[in-house]
Amino acid sequence: MTDIERAAATTLTPRPSWDYAPAPESTDIVRLQDSYGLFVGGEFVEPKSGKRFTTINPATEEPLAEIAEAGPEDVALAVEAARSAHDQVWRDLSGAERAKYLYRIARQLQERAREFAVLETMNGGKPIKESRDVDLPLAAAHFFYYAGWADKLEYAFPGRSPGPIGVAGQIIPWNFPMLMAAWKLAPALATGNTAVLKPAETTPLTALLLAEVIQEAELPPGTINIITGAGETGAALVESGVDKVAFTGSTDVGKRIRRATAGTAKRLTLELGGKAANIVFDDAPLDQAVEGVINGIFFNQGHVCCAGSRLLVQEPVFEELMDKLKARLQTLRVGDPLDKNTDVGAINSRQQLRKIEELVASGIDEGAEIYQPECVLPERGFWFRPTLFTGVSQSHRIAREEIFGPVLSIITFRTPDEAVEKANNTPYGLSAGVWTEKGSRILWMAERMRAGVVWANTFNRFDPASPFGGYKESGFGREGGMHGLEPYLQLSP
Ligand code: NDP
Repeated sequence: MTDIERAAATTLTPRPSWDYAPAPESTDIVRLQDSYGLFVGGEFVEPKSGKRFTTINPATEEPLAEIAEAGPEDVALAVEAARSAHDQVWRDLSGAERAKYLYRIARQLQERAREFAVLETMNGGKPIKESRDVDLPLAAAHFFYYAGWADKLEYAFPGRSPGPIGVAGQIIPWNFPMLMAAWKLAPALATGNTAVLKPAETTPLTALLLAEVIQEAELPPGTINIITGAGETGAALVESGVDKVAFTGSTDVGKRIRRATAGTAKRLTLELGGKAANIVFDDAPLDQAVEGVINGIFFNQGHVCCAGSRLLVQEPVFEELMDKLKARLQTLRVGDPLDKNTDVGAINSRQQLRKIEELVASGIDEGAEIYQPECVLPERGFWFRPTLFTGVSQSHRIAREEIFGPVLSIITFRTPDEAVEKANNTPYGLSAGVWTEKGSRILWMAERMRAGVVWANTFNRFDPASPFGGYKESGFGREGGMHGLEPYLQLSP
């Protein structure tokens, strides 16, 4: 028994006795290669670095494939390929012509959605029902949405002659690999830019499958280049000759990138961490709120930058909400991500699991009370039980730091002013949720919260037409919607 399990043991409640039959999704549809090259200039090439690394399935720890690691020379070649595609072909195509390619990619993603979803789950550990019902449909929707803008840029920015910036270097994290690729690539291409995309080290496989789709869509070679590798590859891309850097990931790396691009002509957008408050008032529909709170923190194992990781509950409903939350937690199904009934899948990597364990241990040490449901975790792979902490004070690390795991810190409040103060008491400002039946209170709260998105009586709702981005240490710039076009455009004054 680990220290965390010992601390949680006093509050363990048995699971209901009924069970589901296994419903595993077949992996037959996925054709994995033993080894993948870099996607540069429209084809897969061997890395000049001569280096490779192994990508695994975090639910089983089994190796899936060998992946090329791009060194500085590989990065330079990819940027060169993107530059010539931009100067010789892409920027001069009409918007309608560019849209044609984006529509092709979107349709291919729809047609091959199951293959992509299974691969996303195998490589990242997220439940298949999420990659199937959320990641893939939204990724395709982003390409459709920005295809629609490609020939209408003059109407989006009337009188300002919108033109592309050039080559975009795009660095994405491991929590939504395919969706983040779509968020980055679709607006860049629609606005006439070309791109070099670097997926995260632990989740390169769907980006490499996307490279196949790009070939099938007959995109002019070099328009999109995909280079795999770890942090050094990302750093080399930032230092390279790109005209713009778009980054999603941790605040620490975001700060490093900001320093590296300071004083250069490179444009920059950063989408970084979060510590969102999900605020439940005493007049909220509690059963609905419980579903929103569960979705807010346990969706994708809590590996979500806008996760509702701090629950603020108004005192009169604290006991009732806790009873309902604990009962709901017991019904969450943790385990094989490929099982269609699984709610909480595998933690993305051993490194991330260690980080979650360390922060949870700090919560126990600092005096918060832990609650975990009883559930049998698979023996291999990286797993963490859904976890609640009560008795959390604002100074606790679990209330301040981004855990990026299935861990909810619960804090109480008495008045709306106190809720606003506590919600804003964070260096981050990406998202927030408000649960109340009063429309006027929703508006009052939304006006006062320093968060890029405020959801009301719902959580984690995404649509390509609505912009997303942060305040303070959650970054700057917006992705999605018409706002998401601007960071990729030069606009005459
Ligand atoms: P990172 O911020 O390190 O990773 C994001 C991307 O940046 C990855 O592609 C990564 O490459 C790349 N990268 C890493 N170092 C550099 C660098 N110096 N210059 C340019 N690019 C770089 O996140 P981690 O995966 O290390 O996760 C650490 C913590 O960050 C998590 O525990 C979580 O709290 C937070 N996080 C937050 C995210 C968010 O969206 N808010 C997303 C991901 C993580 P590679 O992964 O291959 O090393």
